[in-house]
Amino acid sequence: MEFSLIDRIRQRTAQSRDDVRLGIGDDAALLAVPKGQELAVAIDTMVEGVHFPRDTAAVDIGWKALAVNLSDLAAMGATPAWALLALTLPNADEAFIDGFADGFAQLARMYRLALVGGDTTRGALTISVAVYGFVPPGKALMRAGAQVGDVVMVTGTLGDAAGGLQLLQQGHRSDALSSYLIERLNRPTPRVAAGLALRERAHACIDISDGLLADLGHICSASKVGAEIEAAWLPRSSALLGLFDDASSRDVALSGGDDYELCFTVPPQHVASVQADLAKLGCGATRIGCIVERKGVKVRGANGQWLEQDRQGWDHFRA
Ligand code: ADP
Ligand code: MG
Repeated sequence: MEFSLIDRIRQRTAQSRDDVRLGIGDDAALLAVPKGQELAVAIDTMVEGVHFPRDTAAVDIGWKALAVNLSDLAAMGATPAWALLALTLPNADEAFIDGFADGFAQLARMYRLALVGGDTTRGALTISVAVYGFVPPGKALMRAGAQVGDVVMVTGTLGDAAGGLQLLQQGHRSDALSSYLIERLNRPTPRVAAGLALRERAHACIDISDGLLADLGHICSASKVGAEIEAAWLPRSSALLGLFDDASSRDVALSGGDDYELCFTVPPQHVASVQADLAKLGCGATRIGCIVERKGVKVRGANGQWLEQDRQGWDHFRA
């Protein structure tokens, strides 16, 4: 690819780190993993029209491409360090590249994350970001590990991104509540500090990309347990409650994707300290249910009856 495009990306995302021996510009980057740390590695791909609406601003695409990956590191309790970026573009659009790189860099700077290389090719707009982070051996948070009697908790609020997507699909919205939800869709906040804070206390953790029911289901399968959720306890933003009725806001909180909050389980004795620490970090943590022996995820409605689960979150391969 044209050197000028890669150079624009390099300049706009510049971040020096001692552990980057060689960054963008050679055939491969050379990186030094700190002594006594394990490497946590993840990659996620975003395709225009599938993972973000076609008219999403370049700066938001750049932010989100990195955010969804940092969210995976957050869910492992890892500290972000480096990233690779594979960009497929329909044309060498400098304005798009600049906006994309700026959005990527805004988030990268918050974590002193260095973009150390990548690839640039022509084709339908597709972005793959790989991230690398550090975690002390044996300390990573995993999906497996939830125990019967654990409390199920989530950071932040649920359903905002799915609510924002519904608003976008209904047409242009610019009021404050709508803008808040659309911002939650376009600029998710990876809960990196929360993931680090949970390292010594959570038994299991996952980030919510496909919806609470689907992702908590992954914790349950990996841990060979089940979960019971109280619908009335689901944390919902005032914007979501202001624009959607109770049943629809509950449905998107249960099954809507793209929130990138953390769902985790902690033994009851750690609930109060986790709530206090995550409140200090700004995202907060809400108790939403408990881990039980009986497999599957069940949701109790406000009237005490079990809800029927006909929507299990977003599945890319569903017919
Ligand atoms: P090669 O032919 O060796 O793969 P490239 O021309 O693809 O070389 O890349 C040249 C340098 O620019 C490499 O160091 C590569 O990692 C980096 N690079 C290419 N595309 C990107 C990108 N989109 N973001 C960051 N670095 C990139
Ligand atoms: Mg290449």
